[in-house]
Amino acid sequence: ARGGGSAVPRTPAAARTYELDRRHVFHSWSAQERISPMVITRAEGSWVWDDYDHPLLDFSSQLVFTNLGHQHPRVVAAIQQQAATLCTVAPQHANAARAEAARLILSHLPDTFEKIFFTNGGADAVEHAIRMARLHTGRIKVLSAYRSYHGGTDLAINVTGDPRRWENDHGAAGVVHFFGPFLYRSPFHATDEAQECERALAHLEQVIALEGPGTIAAVVLESIPGTAGVMVPPAGYLRGVRELCDRNGLVMIADEVMAGFGRAGRWFAFELDDVRPDLVTFAKGVTSGYVPLGGVAITGPVLRTFDDRAYPGGLTYSGHPLACAAAVATVRAMEDEGTVAAADRLGRDVLGPGLRDLAARHPVIGDVRGVGAFWALDLVEDRASRTPIAPTGGTSERMGRITAACRVEGLLPFVSSNRIHVVPPLNISDGDARAGLAMLDRALGAAEG
Ligand code: PLP
Repeated sequence: ARGGGSAVPRTPAAARTYELDRRHVFHSWSAQERISPMVITRAEGSWVWDDYDHPLLDFSSQLVFTNLGHQHPRVVAAIQQQAATLCTVAPQHANAARAEAARLILSHLPDTFEKIFFTNGGADAVEHAIRMARLHTGRIKVLSAYRSYHGGTDLAINVTGDPRRWENDHGAAGVVHFFGPFLYRSPFHATDEAQECERALAHLEQVIALEGPGTIAAVVLESIPGTAGVMVPPAGYLRGVRELCDRNGLVMIADEVMAGFGRAGRWFAFELDDVRPDLVTFAKGVTSGYVPLGGVAITGPVLRTFDDRAYPGGLTYSGHPLACAAAVATVRAMEDEGTVAAADRLGRDVLGPGLRDLAARHPVIGDVRGVGAFWALDLVEDRASRTPIAPTGGTSERMGRITAACRVEGLLPFVSSNRIHVVPPLNISDGDARAGLAMLDRALGAAEG
């Protein structure tokens, strides 16, 4: 028997951690008295060990960030080496790790991108991208999609289009939401991807026209909305958004915090639609999450705004050397090990076919969506109604049973509302990926009777 209320006691070290955590640590997005956090005591590659010293296959990449898996030796060594040489310098000084990280990241972006502004994570990257767009255009409004996640800080949570916004929403100036394409639960009653794409673009065009193009600074959108359900947009959608931005003088901000750095089988997911945004936000996979780092990649026209005018913004730890050393090692390891192509192949050969095979045998699976190492199962009461088995932003007894059954099998997926997200490290072995799919198969079988 494994964890989750089993009679097996925690290991003594894990028991002490659990006790201290429950007493002293305040957890994100949680009612503090209703949580029972899993203690992770160690990790290696695609595996983590829990409170009971049981191995779990990490199909979550934690919060979709350990793109190289846990404890990649090259990244660990680079952090150690940087720590031994120079732990930190202030952002106004130049530093080798930071300069090289910027160069390497830019080398994987279109050549229209010239500079990187480093942040500590994704939310502040989004905040700064919006600030740059506002200063560049002299306009305030920002259009963002429903069913999106852009971070937990003030403006980032307000542009977010999921229920976590509600209690934090104080009507941040100029934030306007629109519907992106999502054929399975089409806001446009479309019947195929091409129609969904066309109608989503017509809708956005209307929103821009009625908000007043001269009042809008930017459209911010995830190239593939991740947390809200891995909704790969139809071919041509991002290109259509680009066209609308060009026609109306709006800055196109692609949020690649989750989808970037190989997750979608491309260095950046916007490549799937052959489009060039004006600003790109990134975080998570840039260091495989080993040290917090995020940033904004900036193209020429936005950059020129700040040639002779000071950019009014900054962060004490912008481009922290330990984080940048981790980024350099992560990107080089990904280049040398062919990690991005591996993720693409994993999606085509293993995860896509494997998850579709599960759907053929488990009626609770209403939809399988994804690309690369970025997938979600949309779980439904029945396929005709497509009613989710748990509400958006909430959970249910049935969802809880399925999650618990995964844990018993030794699988750690990323669970959100009525969905199981299959988002393993990009370099997971085919054997482990197949083993994880078999665990998911048995868990769905056990939970569904
Ligand atoms: N943007 C996207 C697309 C994300 O998925 C996330 C986090 O999940 C964020 C922004 C926020 O990043 P962070 O939690 O590092 O602030």
